[in-house]
Amino acid sequence: MDGASPRTFDCDVLVVGGGPGGSTMSTLLAQRGWRVTMLEKARHPRFHIGESLLPANLAIFEEIGVLEKLRALGHLKLGADFPRDDGSYYTFRFDRALGETPPYAFQVKREEMDRMLFENAREHGVDAREATKVERVAFDADGVVAHIEAAGTKAALRARYLVDASGRDTFLGKQLKLVERNGKHQSAAMFAHYRNVAHNPDDPDGNIISVNRFAHGWAWFIPLRGGDTSVGCVCKPSYLKTRRGSDNAAFMAKTLALVPGAERRMEGAECISPVRFTGNYSYACRRMAGPRWILIGDAWAFLDPVFSSGVYLAMYSARQACEVVDGALREPAREMALQKRYAKHLRHGYRRFAWFIYRFNSPVMKALFADPRNVMQVEQGVISMLAGDVFDNRLVLSKLRIFKAIYAIASLLNLRRWVADLADRRRQNRMRIATDAAE
Ligand SMILES: Cc1cc2nc3c(=O)[nH]c(=O)nc-3n(C[C@H](O)[C@H](O)[C@H](O)COP(=O)(O)OP(=O)(O)OC[C@H]3O[C@@H](n4cnc5c(N)ncnc54)[C@H](O)[C@@H]3O)c2cc1C
Repeated sequence: MDGASPRTFDCDVLVVGGGPGGSTMSTLLAQRGWRVTMLEKARHPRFHIGESLLPANLAIFEEIGVLEKLRALGHLKLGADFPRDDGSYYTFRFDRALGETPPYAFQVKREEMDRMLFENAREHGVDAREATKVERVAFDADGVVAHIEAAGTKAALRARYLVDASGRDTFLGKQLKLVERNGKHQSAAMFAHYRNVAHNPDDPDGNIISVNRFAHGWAWFIPLRGGDTSVGCVCKPSYLKTRRGSDNAAFMAKTLALVPGAERRMEGAECISPVRFTGNYSYACRRMAGPRWILIGDAWAFLDPVFSSGVYLAMYSARQACEVVDGALREPAREMALQKRYAKHLRHGYRRFAWFIYRFNSPVMKALFADPRNVMQVEQGVISMLAGDVFDNRLVLSKLRIFKAIYAIASLLNLRRWVADLADRRRQNRMRIATDAAE
């Protein structure tokens, strides 16, 4: 068995991946006294996209003891705006959210935040190893053996429980053939860091994230500490097919020229990083857990990042999964029930974000976000959703239900535009799937 005895355990829990999900999970389990090994195939600091955080996430940073470190790394985020076609905008400020979420969040350079979280896990006693890739796992009667590779050397490591936090690599999802493309939402993104991007006139310190829709998708402007700005465009497959040649920076500039409101912000801006692409967007694994294993964060599912939900969902799922693993290790008979509850709870939250995401570019949603009315506190409910409060707050959930009813009525009143939008989304998804099949 490649050096690992089937009778002994090298650790209680093996965590695959040292991103925000993996580091949070490892720290929480170590806080409860479990022996955790976390394996990360890259070396920190390493670039990662996903720089804008949500207020609801701050409680988890606090729980793992790094809120002050995050504050030192981050750039204050007070809200979000979604500019109209004429470039004018309305800001949704987190201090108007219902419930208890903090009135702010942060925007971060992920290489800095992820390294800080990884080191924090180590400080909590986690055996956190970099440049170590998990290649394959095999489950046995009471544990799991991971076959790993580090600096050209192969080894094996045996644990009682496996947590997959491998992000979009979906390590275990692929091995167990669980990954399913989300047919409702397909797109791809390009992004880079810029210097001298102008802020909006009423936001001199750059504390508001802007999410600008345009004909082929949407673009983000995320101010970072030190004055740089992360800019990205999430585009429909049909638009990306129009790209010619290999000059990514030129294609990015050409695309930004199509985004209402971008011209003013990008005038005088200088690109200071490579323009990166990522494709093949939304997916979910058919199952989230099984005997002695559990998936968290992007290793389970990935949603379009329009509401900056990814890091929060990774860390929140780690928080919830910690209860499952801790409970299952103490009382194995409870494992299935704990896993079932975990999957149900997580799916509800993901679906609440997903409902807004799928309709984000529809004419009706555009109109509702462009000119929000706080009838029955519905706008505040939407702000709570933007803050990440999508799981347990009954007041927020009731407001989101009213918003859905308003959306349905507005869609009926604009039936022709709604049908045209639905047809376009279906066409884009078919095109994406056809492109993937040809690759
Ligand atoms: C274009 C784009 C924009 C985004 N913008 C935002 C945003 O503004 N805000 C936000 O919150 N989210 C955003 N996201 C989503 C965010 O990037 C992810 O949701 C988040 O990083 C998920 O965290 P994670 O810990 O699950 O996975 P990751 O952060 O991806 O970490 C997984 C880690 O596992 C490691 N790994 C993988 N396979 C193995 C293996 N076999 N062995 C060992 N290690 C392995 C990887 O190297 C990686 O470090 C965006 C995503 C995209 C694509």
